[in-house]
Amino acid sequence: MLIDQFNRKINYIRVSVTDRCDFRCVYCMSEKMTFMPRNDLLSLEEIARVIKIFNGLGVEKVRITGGEPLVRRNIDWLFKKISEENNLKELTLTTNGSQLKHKATMLKNSGVERINISLDSLDPDTFMRMTRIGKLHEVLEGIQVAKKIGFKKIKLNVVLMKGLNEHEVFNLVDFAIDSGFDISFIEEMPLGGTQFNRNQTSVSNDAILNSLQNHYKILKSNFTTGGPANYWHVESSSTKIGLISPHSHNFCESCNRVRISCKGELFLCLGHEEKVELLPLIKNNPYDDDPIIQAIINSMKFKPESHTFDLSDNKPAVVRFMSHTGG
Ligand code: SAM
Ligand code: SF4
Repeated sequence: MLIDQFNRKINYIRVSVTDRCDFRCVYCMSEKMTFMPRNDLLSLEEIARVIKIFNGLGVEKVRITGGEPLVRRNIDWLFKKISEENNLKELTLTTNGSQLKHKATMLKNSGVERINISLDSLDPDTFMRMTRIGKLHEVLEGIQVAKKIGFKKIKLNVVLMKGLNEHEVFNLVDFAIDSGFDISFIEEMPLGGTQFNRNQTSVSNDAILNSLQNHYKILKSNFTTGGPANYWHVESSSTKIGLISPHSHNFCESCNRVRISCKGELFLCLGHEEKVELLPLIKNNPYDDDPIIQAIINSMKFKPESHTFDLSDNKPAVVRFMSHTGG
């Protein structure tokens, strides 16, 4: 079992399977991205191996993310492999939804029960402005297919930005309620070099909560994933609204997760540079998991107590893209 120096049990990993994406969301990427050479990335076999090692160390929940995980070639193989060779409580996915129309059945057959889908706008033009190249109708089609297939839970992820989609908060919540989905609003995080002036675009969750309370009957929920979200139930519906405030430190004391980047770096906190390079260990020990297991166990000494995000100086806290580390 993985326990860090602050006695937190680590039972959840997020794995970025690619830094590539078919969108360029303004808060996540710059317009012109240089992606990593494919040879620098973990192969799908190596990703499956790392996940199996973590599962052997007590990790029960795996979220596949990116970049856009569903654009990685042969991703179907990876989902099948993970579901076949691990004993997980949950295998989940975060996706922009663009490929969901073709992939939803495969995901369901691989034991994925809950999916997070990013959806920042229900207006095609705003959607295009926020994603720079995304087509809303493709995502909505994917969402409908996933809904029909019947996942246990679909959750929408929204980053609200001033001057862009801030005014859509009720439309998006109504869409979630009508569809029987949950919905989370994520405060913009100062990561990477996306060239956005965050002081001008960031919408605080306090402001969102205030408008939600004036518009809906919502009740505080005790539900938690061990992460930075507070949940609220919308009365007379199955919908939970999550307010994800990464700038608050309240959640760090119950942090249960680490991240594995697409090039095999084990990041102990999204807001810190501390990492362990697993790739050389994986390459140098093709048949022996022990050195990798030892490195993971040792890394628990370095997991920071909390992140150090600070929006006040408008500089990224960590100069790497979310798509690299995995959101
Ligand atoms: N491509 C997939 C997607 O968009 O859902 C998965 C990867 S994406 C990096 C995961 C989540 O991170 C998305 O919900 C996205 O909105 C969020 N995200 C990306 N950059 C962010 C930032 N700077 N601040 C807050 N959330 C961010
Ligand atoms: Fe791609 Fe997801 Fe980042 Fe948008 S948030 S650019 S969809 S990785």
